[in-house]
Amino acid sequence: MSTVKRRVVIIGGGTGGAMLANRLPKDEFEVTIIDKQPYNHFWPWLLYIAFRGSRRPIKREIRSVLKPWVNFIQSGVKAVNLQDRYVELDNGKRLEYDYVVIATGATVDYSRIPGLDKVTEMFGNYHSNEENAWRVWQTLNSMREGTLAIILAPGAYRCPPSPLEGTFLAEEFFRKRGLRDKVRIVFATFYPRPYPAEPMNELIEPLLKERGIEYITFYTLDRIDPEKRVAYSMEGEELKFDAAIVIPPHVGVDIKYVPEDVLDSDRFVQADKFTNRVKGFDDAFVIGDASALPVAKTGVTAHLQAGVVARILQGEDARNTGRTNCPFDVGYGLGTFVISDFNNPAIKYPINRVNHLFKVAFAATYWDMILYPELWDPIFEAYFEATEPAKLRHLYR
Ligand SMILES: Cc1cc2nc3c(=O)[nH]c(=O)nc-3n(C[C@H](O)[C@H](O)[C@H](O)COP(=O)(O)OP(=O)(O)OC[C@H]3O[C@@H](n4cnc5c(N)ncnc54)[C@H](O)[C@@H]3O)c2cc1C
Repeated sequence: MSTVKRRVVIIGGGTGGAMLANRLPKDEFEVTIIDKQPYNHFWPWLLYIAFRGSRRPIKREIRSVLKPWVNFIQSGVKAVNLQDRYVELDNGKRLEYDYVVIATGATVDYSRIPGLDKVTEMFGNYHSNEENAWRVWQTLNSMREGTLAIILAPGAYRCPPSPLEGTFLAEEFFRKRGLRDKVRIVFATFYPRPYPAEPMNELIEPLLKERGIEYITFYTLDRIDPEKRVAYSMEGEELKFDAAIVIPPHVGVDIKYVPEDVLDSDRFVQADKFTNRVKGFDDAFVIGDASALPVAKTGVTAHLQAGVVARILQGEDARNTGRTNCPFDVGYGLGTFVISDFNNPAIKYPINRVNHLFKVAFAATYWDMILYPELWDPIFEAYFEATEPAKLRHLYR
């Protein structure tokens, strides 16, 4: 007996979208992924292009990471009508759906900080694309002395540890080049402490001091004068630099929604934190960086949310726990993880070589994990269970 397959349209073939598509059984669903460009990117590697000059490829064709039965359309999406249940492509074509999943990630917005576009052109950044990450690498290689400022601009951004990871890797770079005593490194953040979550900060702040990295807190970047090389904060502080790498404010991508009020003021899509259902709609979900949820914008978050939505679509009563598991490279082959969930704030997970190795291992399995959830899910489930924050909280205080 043949059943009518339910049509699932997933917008975005990045981490979350591809992970979800491959988890939906082919006999129950007709799955279509739409992406404006042909590649699935492993964004975390921008860090290693920028600070290590890594030549490892960071992208693969989306088609090659999807199960053969998943349809792929390469096209931009310009509108999503949640009321009439269709997605509109750039060429005006409409795709009707039974379920829509928004997995469009986040993008950077330079216009919010005067001078930021010019500073990015001069020194690069590692939160947008490969070209800008290579520019950071050139910046480091051309610096012999002076002040390198790494500034976290106010607003949302991807991967909570990444601003400090870049700072630690820059310190390692200059020390290994024998230039550490000539290059001053300053990390500036709008948060009240270098790492926002207190227990993790108890590990990070002493390490910054130990490595001679200066930091400025309550520094809300307002504008930059690229000619004078000064970054001004809203609090009135002037940060003079010779080179500045800024983590730009992130916003949601430019898609028109009906109704408009599913978006917040930064164009992120509002949803229920347990089910990822778009506010007010049973047949629409948002996963990963595109959501306005108060959870870290990380691949692990997108991965876990994709698993929950896949189970909900198959009729299960699945719910997100809000689990985060962000690898944190502190340089010199050492690392930790930011581990928390809705009920447990980040724990003080130790910095060591093994935890760094886990980061390297996760990176090596990225595309395999997307393509073969049937192989990797049991391994990750065991890992997530063994590292549940409620269990670890008592071990690491
Ligand atoms: C420097 C850095 C370090 C990081 N480190 C880590 C880490 O160590 N661990 C970790 O878990 N995460 C890390 N992340 C974060 C991680 O990369 C993201 O959270 C993850 O990629 C989010 O997945 P996503 O599916 O939401 O979005 P993405 O993977 O960005 O995919 C979004 C997709 O939507 C498509 N799209 C956008 N607009 C449209 C449109 N209008 N029409 C059609 N398609 C569209 C895009 O082309 C893209 O393919 C890091 C990120 C950065 C920048």
